[in-house]
Amino acid sequence: MRWSLKLGKIAGIRIYLHWTFLILPLWVFFSDPAKGMGLPNTTQAALFIVALFTCIVLHELGHALAARRYGISTRDITLLPIGGVARMERMPREPKQELWVAVAGPLVNVAIAGLLIVVLLVLQIPATRFLWPHTVFLPSLLVANWVLIVFNLLPAFPMDGGRVFRALLAQRLEYVRATRIAARVGQVMAILFVIVGLTIQHPMLMLIGVFIFFGARNEAHIVEVGRNLDPEPARQYTPNYFLRG
Ligand code: ZN
Repeated sequence: MRWSLKLGKIAGIRIYLHWTFLILPLWVFFSDPAKGMGLPNTTQAALFIVALFTCIVLHELGHALAARRYGISTRDITLLPIGGVARMERMPREPKQELWVAVAGPLVNVAIAGLLIVVLLVLQIPATRFLWPHTVFLPSLLVANWVLIVFNLLPAFPMDGGRVFRALLAQRLEYVRATRIAARVGQVMAILFVIVGLTIQHPMLMLIGVFIFFGARNEAHIVEVGRNLDPEPARQYTPNYFLRG
C-alpha cells in the first residue's frame, strides 16, 4: 500500500504501517487532556496500542494462512488506525472455504484471549498491578480481544461476520444474490455504526461505519460485474486484489 512503512515480514507476508496510523497516538494523546497524560500514562497507552495491534496483525495472519491452505496468496497486511487489512489475490468462492477463512481471524483472538486468561490466573489479578502499576494492562488486553471477536463477528459485510453470513446464504442461494443480501445488511449495520458513533462521540466507530458502507457496495458491485460480463472484460473491471479486515 502506498504511504506505508514496512515493519517486517511474517510467513512471507509483508507487514506495513499506514501513515494515517499516526492519527491514533495523537488521538489518544489529545482525547483526554483533562486526565493529564503524564509520561507513564502516555508510555502505557503507547505500549497498549503496540500490544493491541500485534493482536490485530495475528488476526490478519489467521485469515492469510487459512486462505493459503486454499491456494490464495496474500500480498501484504497493512495496519490502519481503524484496524488491519490483508490484500488477497482473490476471495474464496466456495462457501465452506470463505467461512473458514473468515472465521480464522477471530479464532486467533479467541486463542489469545484464552492464553491471557491462563496468564491472569497464573499471575492472579492483583499481581498484574505489580507488573503494571496504575493500570490493568493484561485484563484490558483481554477485554480488547473480546471486543475484537464480538465486533468482527457482527454481520456487517464485508467484515468477518458478514462474510460468514454471505457464506451461509450462498449455501442455499445463488452467490450474487447472497452477496447482495449480505451487502445490504452490512450497509444497514454501517449506518447504525455511524449513528452510534455520533451519539457516543466515537470518531473511530463512525469511520469504520463509512468504510463498511462503501466496502459492501464495492464488493457487491464486483460480484455483479463478474456475473454480467464475460470472464475477459470482467477481469478489467475487477481489482487485482481484495481487501479484508
Ligand atoms: Zn478479520
